This record gives sequence, structure tokens and C-alpha cells, in this order.
Amino acid sequence: MSRLIVLCSGGPVPNAERFGSAYILETGNRSGKMRVMVDCGPAAVYKMAKLGIHPLEIEHLFLTHHHFDHMADLGTFLMTRWDHSTGDESPLQIYGPANTGEIVERLIGEKGAFSFDLHARTEHPLSQTMHSLRGGSLPRPGPNVNVHEIGPGIPVDEPGLRVTAAATEHVQPFHESFAYRIETADASVVFTGDAQPCDHVVELGRGAASLVSLCGNFQSKLKERGVEQGQTGTLGAAELAVETGVNQLFLVHMSTDLTARREQAVVEVSEIFDGEVVVTDEMESYELVMPRQQPAVLPGAVARPHIVRH
Ligand SMILES: [Zn+2]
Repeated sequence: MSRLIVLCSGGPVPNAERFGSAYILETGNRSGKMRVMVDCGPAAVYKMAKLGIHPLEIEHLFLTHHHFDHMADLGTFLMTRWDHSTGDESPLQIYGPANTGEIVERLIGEKGAFSFDLHARTEHPLSQTMHSLRGGSLPRPGPNVNVHEIGPGIPVDEPGLRVTAAATEHVQPFHESFAYRIETADASVVFTGDAQPCDHVVELGRGAASLVSLCGNFQSKLKERGVEQGQTGTLGAAELAVETGVNQLFLVHMSTDLTARREQAVVEVSEIFDGEVVVTDEMESYELVMPRQQPAVLPGAVARPHIVRH
């Protein structure tokens, strides 16, 4: 069974219930879990810690775009992961749009904001002792991070994990933005990131089981305020769920208006989409339904004769 763990499920305006975007898709069982992270909004690492998840348990981080509410905790994530590394772990793979490499460089590169602390923690005897106590050896290695600036396509296709990226319509040309479809052994989930409903997201989502969609506010509120461009409201999320054919719709990136009247939001969405609708909460996790079976015989494939056993 796979789970969606919601760390941050708000926008750029902090409130007691929500702030920023960050999610983990967790697949596996007691003998081994794979955790894939999408976005790294404010306080994501603190919220992970409260749930008992350490950045070292994340090998794949996908950034949808570079609005701060989606990546403001990246510095904390990178430094915490490095500080507790013994050097034996797999490198962190970060995937994101153009400028992701420069952002990482400006954080932990030679002249990055954290270069002073990287130097201090590498050279000071106290930090060296702490590193040795954790099982690391000296000299202390630097952060082990690979950055992949991607375009639309399939950035990851390995056993047990396939990820497809599609460009979305949000705030171009200032930020490129992506939606991601993440497929594991028992889950097929699309994260819209920030986007207005668009064909690319529909195409990306066709046949997926679950959709994690931006839902900034009630559609009527967005319209009333003239802020529909570049984002999705209740009706947009519902229509996206119908068009992709998913079974589950998780609403994220919500305003206080919507949080305060969540039942009304579910009613409004359910008038269009007849699958499961969840108004998510931070620090909660949700079971993901299995993706539908692929057809036994794909169109165009040669049918094999049935084997009849006696
Ligand atoms: Zn955004």
C-alpha cells in the first residue's frame, strides 16, 4: 500500500493550519520503504521530523517550480541531510525546472549562503567529533547532491519508480513549472503543482489513480476577485479529475476560506466528480488506491492463444 503524506498544504500566506507545499509519496512495507518528495515548502523539514522522517530517507526530490512557498525549506533540507550523513548514503537527486542548479549552487556551492557553515562544520574539531560519533570518517566529505534540470518527459524510469513531467501553465515566463506523474509498484499519482487547468496536465493524468491538485479557493471566490489565471479552484480541480479519469482527488494548496468551509468544497466538487474527494490536512497521511490494471492485450498487440489447463 502506498500513502500520500501531506507536510505542507497551503499557499504563500502562512496561517495556523497551512503554509506552503510539500508532500511525500511513501511506498513499501516494514522491510523497506521508498519515499519520494515533491516540493519543499516552508518548515517541511520540521514537519518531517514531527512525523519521524529524516531527509536522509529521501533520495528523490521533485520541485514543481520556484515560487518560495514550494522550495523555501530547501536550504534546511540540504544542510540537515548533509549534516547527518555518514558518507554511505545514496546521493540526493533533485529534479526541477531551469534555475534549479543555480539555486542549489547559491545555497551549498563554493560561494553559497551555507558555504561558511559547511566550512565550519567540516574543519572544527567539535563538528568533526560529532561526525565521527555518527559513524562518519574524516576528512568530512561535502554534500552529495545531483541536480537534474529537466524538461517535459520521463526523468526517472527505474525498477519500482517511474516519473513523468509535463509543463504547466502558471506564471510563465517568470517561472517554468511542472506537474509530475509518479508511478510505483502500487500507486499512480499526479501532482499538479501550481497550474491552471490545461491540456498537458490532462494528458499526463489519463489513466492515473490519484490526483493531488492545487485548489486555491472556491471557484466563485477566484472569479469574484479576478484571480483565476494561473491557478485552479474547486470546479477546475473537479473537471481535471473527471477529464483524467482518476479515482481519488486530493485537494491541496488551499486558502483559509476553503478550509473553513470544507464540507461545502466537497459538495461542490462532488457535483462534477463522482470519485473520492479529500480536503487534505497537514501532517496527515492518506491511503492511495491501486491504479487500474492495464488491459491484458494492448491495442495493436498480437493476441496469444489461451492456455487451457486440465
Ligand atoms: Zn506558484
